Amino acid sequence: MSAETSLRFIACGSAGDGSSALIARLISNAKRRYLIVDTPWHEQHVRDTATAAPTARVAVILVDAREGLLAQTRRETRIASLLGVKHVVLAVDRMDALGGDREPFERIESEYGAFARDVGFASVKAIPVSSLTGANVTARAAEMPWYSGPALVEHLDTIDVQEPAMARVAFRLPVEDVSRGQQDVRSYRGRVAQGTVRVGDPIRVVPSGRQSRVASIARGSGDVPSASFGESIAVTLADGIDVARGDVLCAAAEPAAATDQFEAKLIWMDAHALVAGRRYRFKLHAREVDGAVTLIKYHVDVDTGAHLAARQLKLDEIGVVNVGIDEPVAFAPYEENERLGSFIVIDRETGRTVGAGTIDFLLRRAANIHWLRTSVDKSARADMKQQAARCVWLTGLSGSGKSTIANLLEKQLHSEGLHTFLLDGDNVRHGLNRDLGFTEADRVENLRRIGEVAKLMVEAGLVVIVSFISPFRAERATARALFAEGEFVEVFVDTPLEECERRDPKGLYAKARAGSLVNFTGIDSPYEAPEDPEIRVATTGRSPVECVEELRAVLRKLTDRT
Ligand code: ADP
Repeated sequence: MSAETSLRFIACGSAGDGSSALIARLISNAKRRYLIVDTPWHEQHVRDTATAAPTARVAVILVDAREGLLAQTRRETRIASLLGVKHVVLAVDRMDALGGDREPFERIESEYGAFARDVGFASVKAIPVSSLTGANVTARAAEMPWYSGPALVEHLDTIDVQEPAMARVAFRLPVEDVSRGQQDVRSYRGRVAQGTVRVGDPIRVVPSGRQSRVASIARGSGDVPSASFGESIAVTLADGIDVARGDVLCAAAEPAAATDQFEAKLIWMDAHALVAGRRYRFKLHAREVDGAVTLIKYHVDVDTGAHLAARQLKLDEIGVVNVGIDEPVAFAPYEENERLGSFIVIDRETGRTVGAGTIDFLLRRAANIHWLRTSVDKSARADMKQQAARCVWLTGLSGSGKSTIANLLEKQLHSEGLHTFLLDGDNVRHGLNRDLGFTEADRVENLRRIGEVAKLMVEAGLVVIVSFISPFRAERATARALFAEGEFVEVFVDTPLEECERRDPKGLYAKARAGSLVNFTGIDSPYEAPEDPEIRVATTGRSPVECVEELRAVLRKLTDRT
């Protein structure tokens, strides 16, 4: 039996409750191969998703018969459901300690049954077991004659995980690898995510829509006439069409949908909370694409199931979110296909997996908003002013000298005949961004808007000076990504915190220290210094004029005409 046809399950239980002993027995006795996951299991779940393993279909949740249902039991059950587990088995352990007594088991069974039905699983089964004696783990136990159901392993071995059905639906092959063979013929390698494919079948590539026919299918070392769900294969096509890693080869008559907007359930795995609007990398099957959570619709309280309004998702929290990615990707709702319907979220700076999600359905973006291509373009506008359009982005702590330097720099450029515009953080907050405060979520949105405004001004051919604390690397990188190569010049106004606090031009540090100003950068909100800015200006012990002269000289070197 291949790994793909094994039943995947998760065992949940708190440390010391006998789960390890029970799991050890399961491994040695079960007919199918199981993926064993111990607590805290949802972290492991994310790692499995990360390696593109099919996710768990079954959760075995352990309770101690002597303790009954705990808050943790309900919590684990809800998390399992949110992450797409369809079958839940409640192993009521330590029946030996109760002398195999029927009554406590039945009480737990009915209480859990009512709860789990509400949560919504395809099947719920409670089984009285003893991990100590092995009773009802692999075989029906004599000491509990009143129990007429299956033993735990028997039950697991019979749960229908719809595998035969997965071979009958329309063919999908997410392309994991492209290689060139003889006569430059490209072959596309991957594991069949659903359906069956035969040599000669018409194929449509999603999202490109290109069409061809299957010329050959290789499995292992030889060619085969067909292949089905779960098999790892390499396919060649009759035409030399363009297919890349992350594309999905589909049955031509019934191709997968592609989308750049979807609603999803998301579990957040990072100590640094998810903020809507921040850019991350999303990995869906073999495709990696940048994007953002555009909206956190709600956060699910895993203790009560309540939907709570949220601006952030913190470590281990689960929410329902809208996601927007930069390019369309072939996908399927998680309900239909686990591999095409699940994704992970990667921090673009650290490369770490920070979240995992399952797609509920696609969202249709307003299909009729297109970027208007104007015939007078950025360089035509800049040429008229005999300048090169630029975005000079000053970042640094409050009081570091950004506004002072930005002002002097604009004066200087203006006197040289350049057409400039100064976008100052405080000024923008009076108008465009007056609806935003200083929480992390608001700061992210604040910067997103500033970046977009600066970009429009660069499109207008101007030299835009942006003076903004812009404390987060991620958002500065996002702003940078809006511009063409060389157009964005990051200037780190480098003044140590102590010096800024000593200057305290607006008296804000004094307020922050006194506690009357919260979320103040450098005090109780972080500042992430640039690692590789185009220009670094150290201000300590120097006059603003000296700093601007230095900045002007470097700018001139960096940009030919500015
Ligand atoms: P920010 O805009 O970064 O909050 P400001 O420009 O408003 O900072 O304030 C910086 C303060 O530091 C001003 O009072 C300025 O006169 C003083 N300062 C002292 N030395 C320098 C320098 N070399 N460059 C810029 N500002 C300086």
